[in-house]
Amino acid sequence: MIRLWRSCLYVLPVSHTWTHVPGVTLLGDAARLMPPLGAGANLAMPEGAELAESIATGNGEPDRVVRAFEERMWARAGRWAQITAAGLEGLVSPDPAEALALFERVQRS
Ligand SMILES: Cc1cc2nc3c(=O)[nH]c(=O)nc-3n(C[C@H](O)[C@H](O)[C@H](O)COP(=O)(O)OP(=O)(O)OC[C@H]3O[C@@H](n4cnc5c(N)ncnc54)[C@H](O)[C@@H]3O)c2cc1C
Repeated sequence: MIRLWRSCLYVLPVSHTWTHVPGVTLLGDAARLMPPLGAGANLAMPEGAELAESIATGNGEPDRVVRAFEERMWARAGRWAQITAAGLEGLVSPDPAEALALFERVQRS
């Protein structure tokens, strides 16, 4: 038996950025919360590694490398936010049976 329930789904805007603040940055969902369609954790883990490596190899200029990291992250996250937003639109339907059928097709593909 399949049980359905209502739940809120929060996302950040597709092209979300912020004014850089020296000494601090954001990663993962805090930086770019998007629909849960298989991207969030898969982006967060390499982001963390990329940021750590950038700081470690940044010739003692952490603020410059963090800014550059943020630019790369925003570009990548923006692409995935667009993809997942479009995917969510396809899955959310006023007809629950239609949405469920699409979800099952996607799961199998
Ligand atoms: C239903 C669902 C399915 C998903 N499926 C996938 C998938 O298949 N593939 C994929 O890649 N991603 C998936 N995601 C997205 C993925 O779970 C997130 O993108 C990922 O967990 C983000 O990691 P994070 O470390 O940024 O945030 P989180 O995993 O949310 O970690 C944040 C942590 O901070 C803690 N915290 C919050 N506030 C405070 C505070 N004030 N003080 C101390 N600690 C605090 C929280 O308790 C939490 O442990 C899915 C998400 C959902 C909701």
